Amino acid sequence: MQDQQAIAEIVRMQHDFFNSAITHSYDFRINQLRKLKRGIEKFEGQFTAALKDDLGKSEFESYVTEIGFVLHDLTNTIKYLKKWLKPKKVRTPLLIQPASSEIHFTPLGVNLIISPFNYPISLTFAPLIAAMAAGNSAVLKTSELTPKVSKAIQQLINDLFEPEYIAYIAGEVPETTFLLKQKFDHIFFTGSSRVGSIVMAAAAKNLTPVTLELGGKSPCIVHSDANLDIAVKRIAYGKFMNAGQTCVAPDYVMVHQDIKDEFLEKIKHRIISIYGSDASLSPDFGRIVNEQHHSRIVRLIDQDKVVVGGYFNKADRYIAPTVMKDVSLADKVMAEEIFGPVLPVLAYDHFDEIFATIRQLPQHPLACYTFSESKAVQKELIAGIRFGGGCVNHCIQHLGNHNLPFGGVGESGVGSYHGFSGFERFSHKKSVLKAASWLDLSLIYPPYKGKLKAIRRMMK
Ligand code: NAD
Repeated sequence: MQDQQAIAEIVRMQHDFFNSAITHSYDFRINQLRKLKRGIEKFEGQFTAALKDDLGKSEFESYVTEIGFVLHDLTNTIKYLKKWLKPKKVRTPLLIQPASSEIHFTPLGVNLIISPFNYPISLTFAPLIAAMAAGNSAVLKTSELTPKVSKAIQQLINDLFEPEYIAYIAGEVPETTFLLKQKFDHIFFTGSSRVGSIVMAAAAKNLTPVTLELGGKSPCIVHSDANLDIAVKRIAYGKFMNAGQTCVAPDYVMVHQDIKDEFLEKIKHRIISIYGSDASLSPDFGRIVNEQHHSRIVRLIDQDKVVVGGYFNKADRYIAPTVMKDVSLADKVMAEEIFGPVLPVLAYDHFDEIFATIRQLPQHPLACYTFSESKAVQKELIAGIRFGGGCVNHCIQHLGNHNLPFGGVGESGVGSYHGFSGFERFSHKKSVLKAASWLDLSLIYPPYKGKLKAIRRMMK
């Protein structure tokens, strides 16, 4: 817990440090990124243990989705930073020739990065890497729901960086509320839509630009021509990873009526084959972050509709991988983002039913997954549904490609990042036109008499 005066002082120091322009040079950026990479490698054991304690994450998932994900991001950023920093040349229209035009990527300044509980390592460090690569300073605020991970992040940041460059603020809602009153140059928030709107309202008071990485109900569509064995394998993977606490997890499945029974039978067998008949004994299956979220998710399960799972244990924060059938929009489970290991299955006959279902839900989906072997079906669904990003015949894998911008649309988010998009998100694109002095066409200057005809021709 840091007192308000200390928080305000850190933000003030960061502005001074940023204004000194030390963070702007390529050498500074690359050295700090390398230092961060060494630090994360050193903290791997501590992070893995903390993720196990806070979320029951397996060592494998901790590496692939958190520590390894961040290291890979750092390798990629370190490799390409010099190239990204080069001003981008663009064409110059004839009317303003002779001149050249360039876009310079300049740092935004002092950033506030707020991260959620579910992937506390990757969702804190991926924006931080982008911020550092773009030459910024940053204040980090992680989730109080994962106290062990937050403590380890705090230790790493305090070990590696001076607070005037990268600072960690410990605390809960009051500290974050106070932080949001400070003047930042950019706020990067990952979390729920509810808190996203609080962040946006606070940012508006200072006219601070925001990036919002939010959630929502992401659909998964399984068409009648899908390869069902592949579909159930990949849907179970995407849904039950981190016990369903993944912003891009398939929230619900819409399956074609003709293959519904076969789909339910196959997904039931798939769940048992990966986690055993009692998933609470599986070392690969995680736990719900706290009792409040546990009770919320349990309340969404309608036991009369359960095909597999439905078991839970409050003391252990365990909820079995659960599939529900014959679900409609009237069910509680369709009224909010589930964010847990419960998979409702709805049936459809025509695509119009899919489009209507998605439209009736409050948010544009952050992700969308389509399982079909037909290019025409894939095309129709990609074009017909508004979503942030997604996959055809897989789940979640689009996040693994740094060349794809990651972000939501409409209420599922503002702005995107990852790879170059992240660097771009934390940069200001400064437009510079360099005019030549050896020639000065008098066409544009007053008096204008007799010049309009020529100008009209040039501007066509
Ligand atoms: P949350 O919105 O409750 O919390 C996120 C952060 O906001 C935390 O650091 C928390 O301390 C802070 N916070 C909470 N209440 C606040 C308040 N009143 N004022 C200021 N700050 C406050 O989210 P969560 O429960 O940690 O995470 C789950 C949500 O995040 C889900 O909706 C999920 O879809 C979304 N999410 C989105 C992405 C993405 O990349 N789009 C990634 C992960 C999670």
